Amino acid sequence: MNNVAPKHPTLLVRNPRTGARDYEMRVHDAAEVSATAARVLAGQTAWADAGVTHRCAVLAAFHDALSARRPELVAALEADTGRRWASHMEVDTALSNIARCSGYAAGIFAERPPVATADPGVRFMTDLEPYRLVGCIGPWNFPLQLSLIDAVPALLAGSSVVVKPSEMTPRFVPVLRSILEKVGALDQVLAIVEGDAATGASLVAVVDAICFTGSTATGRKVAQNAAERLIPAFLELGGKDPAIVLQSADLDAASSAILWGSTINSGHSCMSIERVYVDERILEPVVERLVRKANAVRLAYPGVGDGEIGPIITEQQIAVIEAQLRDAMTRGARIRTGGEIELLGGGTYLRPTILTDVDHSMRIMQEETFGPIIPVMPFATEAQAVSLANDGHYGLSAAVFAATVDEALGVAHHLEAGGVSVNDVCLTGLVPEAEKNSFKLSGLGGSRMGPSSVRRFLRQRAIICRDRAGTRPWYYDAAGA
Ligand code: NDP
Repeated sequence: MNNVAPKHPTLLVRNPRTGARDYEMRVHDAAEVSATAARVLAGQTAWADAGVTHRCAVLAAFHDALSARRPELVAALEADTGRRWASHMEVDTALSNIARCSGYAAGIFAERPPVATADPGVRFMTDLEPYRLVGCIGPWNFPLQLSLIDAVPALLAGSSVVVKPSEMTPRFVPVLRSILEKVGALDQVLAIVEGDAATGASLVAVVDAICFTGSTATGRKVAQNAAERLIPAFLELGGKDPAIVLQSADLDAASSAILWGSTINSGHSCMSIERVYVDERILEPVVERLVRKANAVRLAYPGVGDGEIGPIITEQQIAVIEAQLRDAMTRGARIRTGGEIELLGGGTYLRPTILTDVDHSMRIMQEETFGPIIPVMPFATEAQAVSLANDGHYGLSAAVFAATVDEALGVAHHLEAGGVSVNDVCLTGLVPEAEKNSFKLSGLGGSRMGPSSVRRFLRQRAIICRDRAGTRPWYYDAAGA
């Protein structure tokens, strides 16, 4: 167990592979959150005034420092989450995010000449003024990636940032903090606070804008607290993503993509495929392929590198998955493969699970599952497929499979989701250039993708100048000059 000074409150953290509570984490209270916020806020004006070229250079140094410490970061993320591939992917994504957002920032801050207006004497220019202090609260499913995804563009915009990662997966934090300390100017404007829900709430209470990634239930609380202070809340919340397979689709490609998109990271992904609607004429061929492929996917046990499916990371999620499976079985669902929660070496695992005979009365078709479960339901017409896909509270993303893109677009344009992948899955998360908004209960605020990822942290100050000789300011007509 790591050593933590005893005078501070701490939390014991469960290891998802062993079940042991083998890591102790500091909990920062409201006073410490305030002090941390004040410290990085003190560095903000100089950071913003130093200009975008300076900020890009500091972030480039951060990129290199992260890259150099990759093995330690991956090891910590593996211990946090019990999986390997996604831990490497998180570091890769964090690195590419820095490079891409630096490009956006350079473009956004490029010289912008004054703009003429309909009034011939008047021109205007626009200042870009960052929110001074941005808070970023992250979930446990991709701890590093989702701690940095909004922090990096906010820093590039010129904001100072305080990050609060999830209490479920904090082992990467000491590594990240020691990297920050090595990148001179950065630790004056970027800090990490650790703790629980109260720590998160304390952060919302002191920042000028909050970025929250997590559940819809907590997102609602964050939004309410942000509304009380009239600060913007950028919310990235839950999903129940549908995939639609039209009759013309390449069934081998579609079944592979759906299986991967549902089970990657043990299904702990907001953009996971959680419902599959298949043209009734091809239902059995699709189910047969899904079952065959699911049976070939291995658990990452006993070694973390032995297979693809890691443990269910949190005890809360095990309970959710079990309850949804129970509810589905009670209402008549049929398990075609998987479905057994397995206790192995203290960790809890679920093999890819294919369900048929499901309907929308079941929780598993309505609520976020966040596990490697694929419920498959037939449809008779494309209109019915669209209506089933849109029948839910969430609107994060979706996928459509068809022989041609044109045919898929006939469905895609009607889906109530912020991003739709065609003939693939999860592209809305894997292609960060494409801007998107979350629909319905899946989120709020400007896109965290594309140039908007930086722009949304910038307020515009229009400076409007009457600067042409021979024109006069506004005045009462009748009163003369
Ligand atoms: P939670 O909502 O439980 O927690 C998210 C974060 O909020 C944690 O750091 C948590 O701290 C903190 N928190 C809890 N209560 C409060 C509060 N009152 N005020 C401020 N912060 C608080 O989500 P999970 O960690 O369980 O993450 C899973 C969820 O995240 C899923 O619903 C998933 O869909 C969603 N998600 C969405 C993504 C998207 O881009 N749309 C991406 C990835 C995940 P603590 O952990 O200490 O309680």
